Amino acid sequence: MNVYAQLGVRTIINASGAVTRLGGAPMPAAVLESFIAAAAATVPIEELQAAASREIARATGAEAGLVTAGSAAALTLGAAAILTGYDPGRMERLPFCDGFPHEFLVAREQRSGYDHAVRAAGARLVEVGFNEIVAGAGVRRTEAWEYSAAITASTAGVLYSFASDAQPPLEELAIVARRHNLPLLVDAAGRLPPRENLRLTARGADLVAFSGGKAIRGPQSTGILCGRRELIGAAALQMLDMDDHPALWDPPTGFIDRSRLAGLPRHGIGRSMKVSKEEIVALLAALRLFDQGGYLVELDSQRLRLEKICDALRDLPARCHLLDRRDGESPPWLEIELDEQRLGRTAMEVCRRLRRGEPPVYVGHGQLAHGRLVIYPLCLVPADVDVLAERLARELRP
Ligand SMILES: *Cc1c(COP(=O)(O)O)cnc(C)c1O
Repeated sequence: MNVYAQLGVRTIINASGAVTRLGGAPMPAAVLESFIAAAAATVPIEELQAAASREIARATGAEAGLVTAGSAAALTLGAAAILTGYDPGRMERLPFCDGFPHEFLVAREQRSGYDHAVRAAGARLVEVGFNEIVAGAGVRRTEAWEYSAAITASTAGVLYSFASDAQPPLEELAIVARRHNLPLLVDAAGRLPPRENLRLTARGADLVAFSGGKAIRGPQSTGILCGRRELIGAAALQMLDMDDHPALWDPPTGFIDRSRLAGLPRHGIGRSMKVSKEEIVALLAALRLFDQGGYLVELDSQRLRLEKICDALRDLPARCHLLDRRDGESPPWLEIELDEQRLGRTAMEVCRRLRRGEPPVYVGHGQLAHGRLVIYPLCLVPADVDVLAERLARELRP
């Protein structure tokens, strides 16, 4: 019996990709092996994080890095670092920021549920720009001058959600932020691949948050914060277990600059977001694989699996669209466009039946309003493909 059956939990077929509510991406064997190997010995966590910082710096081109408990935790810690710097008094007060600058500028069109992670540190978001295109009331996106115009003495930083087509472009906003000496915190959680997006600090970001449990395929509970050394040090100080003796504490130089601290901070706002030594080592193993292009060999078999699913749906009231980002690195995906009239069911109903059937199948639900089911291959194991094709064919028979 598998471990889930023992617990009375049904396993599912995950055609939704690396989403957190379905447990994220599968870890490669090498990553799992490094997790187990890490459990066999003990090291001081701050020294392990300092080593992780060097590895993350190599992979991202940033000055320093930190393994966090997911990208959301990276955003909280990044915001905390910007709010406090190396000031242990401010660290102690978070998330209350009375008396020091704590506003982050963010484009209204870039607001998302994930910015709760930034607000959790104590930051207050100040929106700039409008959302005219979605509102159907205009054609313009957010422009860089709108950030400049909103800066006041209370502004602490700028929050930006990275996408290749985000507006204003990262480079343009970075010029504004630098001119006003405001750190630029970038959420790039799911923007990998392509691997070149690991290097957003070279394009002007001061701190960047990535998920470790999406395309990198590290432990689902991990993430990466990378960027300026001083900010990474401040973030680490607010996450690490600080219950050492002030006369004995000797943090790794180059990672935490003890000489700049007025005193030894106590547990910070990130203490509830700790990562284990096993998670750190496994994330680094996954990052190495990802960065070296170790996952690219799977692109062909991912495409073949999707084609096989298309074949199984021939003669049914559905049209398959096999799509990809054309960056040579991102997995393809399949959009199944239903003829809802001929089928006599909406895509929403089909999606619900897929989840409730046996085995439960979870497909991407982002295009249901357009009558489409989306199949992402990242989390499909070879044995899933025939079952998935058969389940889809059954639900798409009129
Ligand atoms: C997934 C995601 C997050 C959260 O990442 P976790 O690693 O699950 O914490 C944050 N922001 C965006 C844009 C995401 O896609």
